[in-house]
Amino acid sequence: MLDTNLLAILACPICKNSITQIEEGIEHALYCSACELYYPIYKGIPILLKKEARTRTQWEVFLEKEALATYKEDR
Ligand SMILES: [Zn+2]
Repeated sequence: MLDTNLLAILACPICKNSITQIEEGIEHALYCSACELYYPIYKGIPILLKKEARTRTQWEVFLEKEALATYKEDR
């Protein structure tokens, strides 16, 4: 979880609107509702880069891969 003070100063790199933190499965991301883009949080560091932004479809693919990786590690 990101610190709420940190979250308050973060903005979408594309439209500069505020972003919200979401949790899906084991992953956390920052979501811009205006752009409908997801920004990953890597080891607690939000990656607010245009090139790292993911669409809903890309995000779902990412989640599936992560879930699969976790599943493999568990075995
Ligand atoms: Zn945006």
